[in-house]
Amino acid sequence: MSSLRGRFLKPNDEGFTYDRSDVDQTSGTSFVFNPHVSASIEKQRERLPIFAVRKHILYLLEKYQTLVIVGETGSGKSTQIPQYLAETGWTASGMVGVSQPRRVSCTALALRVSEECGVPLGSEVGYSIRFDDCTTQGKTKIKFLTEGMLIREMMADPLLRQYSVIIMDEVHERTLYTDIILGLLKKIICRRKDLRIIVCSATVDADHLFNFFNSDNSSKKEDSAYILTVSGRTFPVEVFYKKDPCPDYVKGAVETVIQIHKQEPAGDVLVFLTGVEEVDTCVSLLQEHTASMNSTSSDIIILPMHGSLTNSDQLKACQSVPPHIRKVVVSTNVAETSITIPGVVYVVDCGFAKLRWYNPKNHMEALVVTPTSQTSAIQRAGRAGRTRAGKVYRLYMENDYEKLPLVTPPEIVRTNLTPAVLSLMSLGIENMLRFDFPSPPPARNVISALDELYALQALTDQGDLAKPIGQAISEFPLSPQLGKALLASGEFGCSEEMLSIAAMLQVQNVFVRPSSKVQQSKIMHRKFEVEQGDLLTALTVFTAYLQHNEDKRWCLEYFLNYKALKRASQIRESMKKQLLNFGVSLQSCKDVKTICKCITAGLFTNTAYLSATGSYRTVKSNEPLFIHPSSCLYTQPNPQWLVFHEVIHTDRCYISDVCVIESDWLLELAPHYYRRGVHTM
Ligand code: ADP
Ligand code: MG
Repeated sequence: MSSLRGRFLKPNDEGFTYDRSDVDQTSGTSFVFNPHVSASIEKQRERLPIFAVRKHILYLLEKYQTLVIVGETGSGKSTQIPQYLAETGWTASGMVGVSQPRRVSCTALALRVSEECGVPLGSEVGYSIRFDDCTTQGKTKIKFLTEGMLIREMMADPLLRQYSVIIMDEVHERTLYTDIILGLLKKIICRRKDLRIIVCSATVDADHLFNFFNSDNSSKKEDSAYILTVSGRTFPVEVFYKKDPCPDYVKGAVETVIQIHKQEPAGDVLVFLTGVEEVDTCVSLLQEHTASMNSTSSDIIILPMHGSLTNSDQLKACQSVPPHIRKVVVSTNVAETSITIPGVVYVVDCGFAKLRWYNPKNHMEALVVTPTSQTSAIQRAGRAGRTRAGKVYRLYMENDYEKLPLVTPPEIVRTNLTPAVLSLMSLGIENMLRFDFPSPPPARNVISALDELYALQALTDQGDLAKPIGQAISEFPLSPQLGKALLASGEFGCSEEMLSIAAMLQVQNVFVRPSSKVQQSKIMHRKFEVEQGDLLTALTVFTAYLQHNEDKRWCLEYFLNYKALKRASQIRESMKKQLLNFGVSLQSCKDVKTICKCITAGLFTNTAYLSATGSYRTVKSNEPLFIHPSSCLYTQPNPQWLVFHEVIHTDRCYISDVCVIESDWLLELAPHYYRRGVHTM
């Protein structure tokens, strides 16, 4: 692999390129394009490819306990299957639960299905996402829920007795939670023969899932799982490779699009790049080029596509254009499975994707531009053959394709497992290494997670879950570090303040910076900044928001995101109840130093100090760190010691959500972890 990576230069390799919005891990979009929108709901439902196999699905579900359904995005898996089940009595004795990797899909699908069923949202059809339960006990039959919520429900009821069918949706994404749930469900179905599992995937590499569910069946003659493919019509796609290595794939993509436009017959183009920033660069380069060629500029239209665009901008990329115009959509990997863009005949594939990788040596996650897998290359190519025969231009050489891994490594093998290990332990799974997962996590990542949990005193010396603290931390839907700080806030007398800080860390983009008013918004934002860093700044913002009666106009005036603050306020209420349940009383100390100390009591494993060279280093592994430009400390004099909540590694390791501390606190609050002079772990 390294040889392949070496031959490709990453665009924008030097300098600072990371922006949080650049992480588009097929994220954030609830956008759906519906070509039949003018037909009646009934007609729309019947036109979906899944309708042709409705009976088949229902028959197979009587016969097999697990059904793997493969069907491309838009074929009707998420919206139709739950309705088929409800229509045929599967909801008489329990709910149909549909798990989703993303929050936005839960709410959007619940809304759509409630509309199709003609019932109010939250009655027969509802959703449950973190801090927001829109269901009616005893009435809700179809429930869309995030994977995280499904795991929480398993904590309360390990056999999921409220459900008759669990549909695991978007399993091709193989998130950490997907794999954990697959492992847990495999256990549950042995104990509950009446429960049915439907696993939905948009890519064809679902055989291993089928094997996973059938693997214990060697003694029995019959399979307990079945795999069903919903055929959308597909056409052949001709594959082209580069003859020479392509040193800069953004430029390579631009050149390829221009060549297609000049030489190939009509048909839209879809370009795959790895991040939002690359998409924007490519779009502007193409626009510059077409503007300079007056004669052709009117017959080509260039559009970006990624999860952080507004719905109307995403719609633009999906809508068809007049026949004499060629549409070029430049996309992140959202167009690989999450969104289908109709009319595509040519695909340009850069051959890379951005993935998060966890390094157990320094406990940090890095966002790495990684070569795609062969499966993903096939999936991308397939996007060109939906309406007629198409072509794919891979911006690498043919023998490099052979060196690509077969499948993209699932998140469980490349992510920080600390929260997952804690959740599994509270579900009674003591040894994650011996648990049956579709892809076993690396032992060193599990050990690193155990180390971290032990440091937080969530585990006992024997390695068991510490009661009550470990159990309590696992029940908070927060990072274990933040959960620990929140639970400690009772002792420090600052639970009111910690609740606000923890709630603010759960929402994003609080500070709004419109491109037309950068200076103005900066000046306003500075009014909230405090020298103790981002966590205390977040507290200042939230307190001011409450003092101004949660007023929308006030938010506008100060360039603050009203929706985000409103959500923080809801989250705070929900966490407050939980905190009270754990016996922590509500107190406010209004003392900045005490609040910073309380934060340290949770975040002490993430400590950095200013080294003699003028850059920060982690205490744990002496890793160099840099303050992220989004942090309020970016432009302030550097404090000697700090703790951080967020770290992201691109070209360098950046930290944000930081809080200034005193080194003595570490010895006082975590004597089991720190010693003066040398560090112990
Ligand atoms: P899949 O899960 O197979 O990707 P879905 O069940 O989500 O497919 O969607 C099937 C079809 O239903 C879509 O192609 C679209 O036509 C229609 N649809 C789904 N959600 C919406 C929505 N929110 N608004 C309009 N149409 C929708
Ligand atoms: Mg779906």
